Amino acid sequence: MTELLSFEKSRQNAHGPRLPEADVESPGPDDVLPRELLRAQPPGLPRLSEPEIMRHYSRLASMNYSISEQFYPLGSCTMKYNPVANEAAAALPGFTDLHPYQDEETVQGALSLMWRLEQALCAVVGVDRVTLQPAAGAHGEWTALRMIQAFHRSRGEARTEVLVPDSAHGTNPASAALSGFRVVEVRSGPDGRISLADLESKLSPRVAALMLTNPNTLGLFEREILDVAEIVHATGAMLYYDGANLNAFMGICRPGDMGFDAVHMNLHKTFTTPHGGGGPGAGPVGVKADLVPFLPTPTVERMNGQLKLDFKRPKSIGRVRSFYGNFGMLVRAYTYIVAMGGDGLTQASLDAVLGANYLRHEVEGLLEMPHEGPCMHEFVASARNLAPRGIKALDVAKGLLERDFYAPTIYFPLVVPEAIMVEPTETESKATLDAFAAAIKEIVTQADESPETLHEAPHGLPVGRLDEVATARHINAYLQGQSEDPILRWKKAP
Ligand SMILES: *Cc1c(COP(=O)(O)O)cnc(C)c1O
Repeated sequence: MTELLSFEKSRQNAHGPRLPEADVESPGPDDVLPRELLRAQPPGLPRLSEPEIMRHYSRLASMNYSISEQFYPLGSCTMKYNPVANEAAAALPGFTDLHPYQDEETVQGALSLMWRLEQALCAVVGVDRVTLQPAAGAHGEWTALRMIQAFHRSRGEARTEVLVPDSAHGTNPASAALSGFRVVEVRSGPDGRISLADLESKLSPRVAALMLTNPNTLGLFEREILDVAEIVHATGAMLYYDGANLNAFMGICRPGDMGFDAVHMNLHKTFTTPHGGGGPGAGPVGVKADLVPFLPTPTVERMNGQLKLDFKRPKSIGRVRSFYGNFGMLVRAYTYIVAMGGDGLTQASLDAVLGANYLRHEVEGLLEMPHEGPCMHEFVASARNLAPRGIKALDVAKGLLERDFYAPTIYFPLVVPEAIMVEPTETESKATLDAFAAAIKEIVTQADESPETLHEAPHGLPVGRLDEVATARHINAYLQGQSEDPILRWKKAP
């Protein structure tokens, strides 16, 4: 299973597909760009015929690993099956042939879909309004923090700090820093949950918000969330909910009821729109009434039986994405919600939690479980028990790839050494979970009996064990102009 680069396969005299003549008048190149900015030579792109290109990409695709082929237990990412019905809905010409500059009267269907999706998401997370614009969870975090910042400023308060637990996803401190806040870390207690004492010691009138995930990234529910909300609100700060773990409790509890003021949702995680190289994401943000005036423009409003886009929102933080967000993803998520219904979503969460606890039980005793169960929709194990054999979480992950499973998330969250974070999702059968547990068992036996073979895994895949240190060094040297192109260099190696 090897495939040359398209550049290596390029043939000087190959012809690509013939394109029809342009049917619009185009100005000559001189009218568009000044002559000194134009290329003297054509770009060095590979030249291949259409069948050659097709085969090249089909062969590369066959080496890939995807949720439509295999189990993908990537913790914190909710890699569930993406229903085909979503794709059929998103491909309807009524959606695909729209132009974002069309008059509102001619796009009532699309606006209605956005309106209904907003209503559904409001109901799931318990907020007053939702913006559909952000393109991902991280983008949603940033959007919400800008709204929270604008809220505090509108009251004449300059709050400069954002509190983030030590188990948080890296995007949380990054979004806070990008919004100009100072990030202050809050420690977890030995039970893996936020330490109330540490939280209290870090609260002050300088704090704008606490960012929290519940269940947290260890898959544990923050049982003291109502107390957390009370002490945070008492200081005038807001509560931000990182909704990446929403798959744990749809229809069972709601961040809005727990006291959160703003929530992002990852449609590409919880609501089955493709991700992980499968397409753009969508990270809608829901807010409570206090933050509604600050929502990005435009919002979809209902006026006299018509749906309208409202651009006149004086306190708005403005647009955060061109046009109206990744609209095709909104169609897919809406299709999934309608197909599932409220009861279906609740059942999905119940099954996700059941699957995670079943797998946790099967793996317990093979890997260390640093925190007491039960867990929610995912669990974090540790490969620390294999350290005496020289085996690390990375080796376990490679051993899983060898056995045709995608590797779980490793080395995250940072509070667990040698972390292996497993999220099976509700779309997997018991047979798949059993096969995964059996693979872990085999790897642990291999670690005992012949650890050196595990160090070399995977053997049977298109790409074997990468030398990550050497790769990073070569790329850095290349970027600093101290070495030739790392791909060419690698290709020349014997
Ligand atoms: C995935 C994830 C994010 C970021 O979401 P993206 O859509 O990848 O930007 C944030 N927090 C947690 C806990 C996550 O799992």
